[in-house]
Amino acid sequence: MTDSSSEVLAVETHDLWRIYQTGTQEVAALRGIELKLAPSSFIALKGRSGSGKTTLLNCIGGLDRPSRGTVRIFGEDVSSLNDADMTAWRREKVGFVFQSFGLLPTLSAYENVELILRIAGMGNKDRHNRAVECLKLVGLGKWIHHRPYELSGGQQQRLAIARALANRPKLILADEPTGELDSGTATDILGFFREIVNQEGLTMLVASHDALVDRFVDKILRMSDGQIIDEEVIEPQPA
Ligand code: ADP
Ligand code: MG
Repeated sequence: MTDSSSEVLAVETHDLWRIYQTGTQEVAALRGIELKLAPSSFIALKGRSGSGKTTLLNCIGGLDRPSRGTVRIFGEDVSSLNDADMTAWRREKVGFVFQSFGLLPTLSAYENVELILRIAGMGNKDRHNRAVECLKLVGLGKWIHHRPYELSGGQQQRLAIARALANRPKLILADEPTGELDSGTATDILGFFREIVNQEGLTMLVASHDALVDRFVDKILRMSDGQIIDEEVIEPQPA
């Protein structure tokens, strides 16, 4: 065994607070979150609506800024980055998958993935190769010229995953990725997440209130009222 204390954590937050101001009201969506996620793990963030899951993912991924506290991703303190550096960091290092897919409807599957690589500044040929590779990886090799509306819900979510993987991020954040899928398709997507965590050594944090996630993940974190109230390690199941 290696000494786990010397291992750089994929995600580490310390005393993370996010307080929303709405008029004269203050809502503390995150209240002192302490989080430590090991690399190459698949973690579920569960909790009822309004418990703070989306806010936590957004603060970890640099889509939102904490009101207080720190976020370290693979050892880098990202909470202290300025806006421009935060955007550049996020594009390079984090993949996002959302419930509503977030795909551009006028672009083909291929173009949806390729655009991300174009923004990242990758050259023509590499961009083409990587886009095709990612689409094949998610089983959309035959659908690369289809537009999102020509794909099923499960295929659209696979496309969103291909896009999230394109930049080879070491961290993927997924917010209710199975929320709009039937249970069969949701199971496929979760199984696919499990496979890519195992094969690519990614760290995947998935916010979900779907009981289906339980048997796929390494750990379940339960949130309530802006805090993590419980942590459950799941024993690996025989294949
Ligand atoms: P979850 O994803 O678990 O449903 P959220 O992170 O979306 O939880 O919300 C946590 C709390 O923060 C809720 O009370 C919600 O109403 C509040 N909240 C979320 N976003 C905003 C916002 N932009 N402005 C004000 N309050 C917000
Ligand atoms: Mg949410």
